[in-house]
Amino acid sequence: MQNATIKSLSADLAAKKLSSVEATRHFLIRIKALNQKYRCFITVDEDKSLAQARAADQLRAAGRAQPLTGVPVAQKDIFCAKGWLTTCGSRMLSNFVSPYDAHVVERLNAAGAVNIGKTNMDEFAMGSSSETSYYGPVTNPWDTQTVPGGSSGGSAAAVAARLAPAAIGTDTGGSIRQPAALTGIAGLKPTYGVVSRYGMIAFASSLDQGGPLARTAEDLALMLNVMAGHDARDSTSLERPPEDYTRELTRSLSGLRIGLPREFFARGVAPDVEKAVGEAVGQFRKLGCETVEVSLPNMGLSVPVYYVLAPAEASSNLARYDGVRYGYRAPEYADLPDMYKKTRAQGFGAEVKRRILIGTYVLSHGYYDAYYLRAQKLRRLIARDFSEAFGKCDVIMGPTSPTTAFRLGEKADDPVQMYLSDIYTIAVNLAGLPGMSIPCGFGNGGLPAGLQIIGNYFSEARMLNVAHQYQLVTDWHDRVPPGIDVD
Ligand code: GLN
Repeated sequence: MQNATIKSLSADLAAKKLSSVEATRHFLIRIKALNQKYRCFITVDEDKSLAQARAADQLRAAGRAQPLTGVPVAQKDIFCAKGWLTTCGSRMLSNFVSPYDAHVVERLNAAGAVNIGKTNMDEFAMGSSSETSYYGPVTNPWDTQTVPGGSSGGSAAAVAARLAPAAIGTDTGGSIRQPAALTGIAGLKPTYGVVSRYGMIAFASSLDQGGPLARTAEDLALMLNVMAGHDARDSTSLERPPEDYTRELTRSLSGLRIGLPREFFARGVAPDVEKAVGEAVGQFRKLGCETVEVSLPNMGLSVPVYYVLAPAEASSNLARYDGVRYGYRAPEYADLPDMYKKTRAQGFGAEVKRRILIGTYVLSHGYYDAYYLRAQKLRRLIARDFSEAFGKCDVIMGPTSPTTAFRLGEKADDPVQMYLSDIYTIAVNLAGLPGMSIPCGFGNGGLPAGLQIIGNYFSEARMLNVAHQYQLVTDWHDRVPPGIDVD
């Protein structure tokens, strides 16, 4: 059963081949057996999950089931879930039990999905390896000596290790797509504003976007159908008519124009990843697609621009963790300023502190124009590059990550190398565009490679169509990490 997709599990639940309680129990048992090895989950609460499963079985019995009803979904520990410990991978929130649900969690609950546990992640979603978590690093099920990517590494590894059929994550600069690529699964970052940020712990608010992780494009569409929707509590949530993201899955790709950005293939992509991506593009040609070369001339600036803007926003968002209202407070201090200092010194890890320092610096008087304002202007140019490219093509393709999974600790002491892991994903967030990653083969050492598909604003349904048609003629998404039994 662990190899089930949302689609197949939902069909089995509908046919009464099994109950949600049985499915949930099955995944909980697997998590218990394997979580020490992968550290995918920070919190598992069998009673809460099983209570949701029982309620889902009742919904089904009452004839009120939707596709996700009774399906276990893992939730990145950045989403506030009522009554659940919600840590964001940080000591700062290590005692925070959320009094409310994020909008996405409300919607999953209303659809009858079962929260199977809260997944491990880089602290405050800052990282590309899931090593900066206060709860220890997540390991990659394909090779536990390597990282699963990040920051949604716990969600990605949980899906890859068949500990959940699907998961939710967030992507500020690549945190859904890059871990999906490194663990051989699929992940989608929607157009900015499609999924509400309410109750999603803020990192860089103008870039953060929630999205699904699963193995198939079809499952991503089913998840997005539930996750997307307007929410007045997030001022950047878009008011648009609801969409059925499965509606284009079966459309033919004949005549689809695929843009291949020159800069995606010139700049430091590892030969094994380049080969897998090239073969995937060849497969699309066989499906009737045309390819055109496009250019994103300012792409090379996306990492430096991001590392001004994201820390600037983070330094402001993280000012709220002061030991007063909620979260960690230093046990001993002399007076109020000392309490703030000790709380923040003890509550945050090194990467978070680095970001707060950079962000405070670039926003400070005298540097604001030189860094922050300049970065904002460049952000606009990067978005314009994409608009021009989409004049010539329907979707853009390239690698998701420049390499396959790297070794644990390999980049931990070298922030710049770590930041470069997102060289192909960050520009998409800066432009607010939708992007996804699907597995497209294996590189050296049998580690998965990901194909990135970038669409124009609100073209998620078409992107999912592109990914689905590819998955109909390939089986990379069905491959199982070594040692994981799927019978
Ligand atoms: N790796 C990038 C960072 O560290 C992106 C993280 C994310 O998307 N949350 O900021």
